[in-house]
Amino acid sequence: MPEFTLAEKLEILADGAKYDVSCASSGSSRRNSGGIGNAAQCGICHSWTADGRCVSLLKILLTNACIYDCAYCVNRRSNDTRRVMLTPAEVAELTIGFYRRNAIEGLFLSTGVVRDPDHTMELLIEAVWQLREEHRFNGYIHVKVVPGADLLLVERLGRHADRVSINMELPTRESLKLLAPDKSREAIVAPMRRVGELIVQTKEERKCSRKIPPFAPAGQSTQLIVGASGESDLQIVSLAAGLYGRLAMKRVYYSAFVPVNRDERLPVVVGTPPLVREHRLYQADWLMRYYGFAAGELLDEERPNLDLALDPKVGWALRNLHLFPLEVNRADYESLLRVPGIGVRSAQRIVRARRGGHLTLDDLPKLGVVMKRARYFVTARGRFAADLAPDAPGLRGRLLEKPAPPPRWSQPSLFAGTAGIDLRSAITGEL
Ligand code: SF4
Repeated sequence: MPEFTLAEKLEILADGAKYDVSCASSGSSRRNSGGIGNAAQCGICHSWTADGRCVSLLKILLTNACIYDCAYCVNRRSNDTRRVMLTPAEVAELTIGFYRRNAIEGLFLSTGVVRDPDHTMELLIEAVWQLREEHRFNGYIHVKVVPGADLLLVERLGRHADRVSINMELPTRESLKLLAPDKSREAIVAPMRRVGELIVQTKEERKCSRKIPPFAPAGQSTQLIVGASGESDLQIVSLAAGLYGRLAMKRVYYSAFVPVNRDERLPVVVGTPPLVREHRLYQADWLMRYYGFAAGELLDEERPNLDLALDPKVGWALRNLHLFPLEVNRADYESLLRVPGIGVRSAQRIVRARRGGHLTLDDLPKLGVVMKRARYFVTARGRFAADLAPDAPGLRGRLLEKPAPPPRWSQPSLFAGTAGIDLRSAITGEL
């Protein structure tokens, strides 16, 4: 590889990491025990761009060189691009340097595969080990697991990291074979399963003894690319439900396919990437994790894709109008959660507030209910707020949403944009 300065390497490696969306840092609580940094549980150790992306982590690749050739990846072997690599010591020193300058609050470290998965994992472990043991860094660390690596290495990595993730990328074996032929489903699922087991097992063991070191206390996550292959939303959502249920997955991230390579195996994207579809999948995912919906309630074989014009919760309500309107003074918590316009907090507030007396329609906005949507689905003291009954034709038209979240790929690379700080000058201390 030709010689590059550290700043050049960082620019290339931060740019190479920007397509990985799985970098939220919530869920970890690591106390400072004499070193530097804290990982806070309630999400305060990260900040978000206007489009919802976490940017306060130093988000880099160890290397953008890769022996694999995934069709959708900017770093694939067959791309003619500048290849650089940091040493584990450089990763550790950069992270500490940025942390001391208050530019970041943690590290998100991913990588291409160099030589083989085990060798790459050893380099990642070394970088994280140096941060934790030599620099006594207690801040948040999220590291990628390399598919196909020895499971003992996966275990070693998880002992030092707050979160680990293994990107599934493609929802089915067939798509993986077509677009990422060097990776197998088994090589991805085996470490996921092992990480899930170790998370559960370690949590149990630590109930008996806090001396047992934590294992990935912020859990594991994965990323699915949406739109690079032909799977339906039903397939994607069902896969996500399985990952949450069977592999103790903390988060599944959905990433709208961005064409960065010319490759006849990939679809042609006209206009912007499928961001609305990505947004609807996040909403469906949210409904499964926090609102008690099963994948089969949101989608089925006859309707395998989410309605891009409707919030999936509204879509479900419109298909189940026989359940509405719901009387807010009598409905149980689980049923309240299913009303469009009522969220987890407003449902909790309703349940609390009605202990003090019957609620009226006027009380609902004060409790956080979004009446624009909820008015068609609830009554309070028998009164209905809308001029249209829940079974009236035309209700769908009233509940349609503007489907266009802002395009996110127009944003500058992280190198120039992390928390408003130019990382290039942060290297040299010119903040
Ligand atoms: S293994 Fe990862 S870095 Fe390598 S080509 Fe595939 S997606 Fe890209």
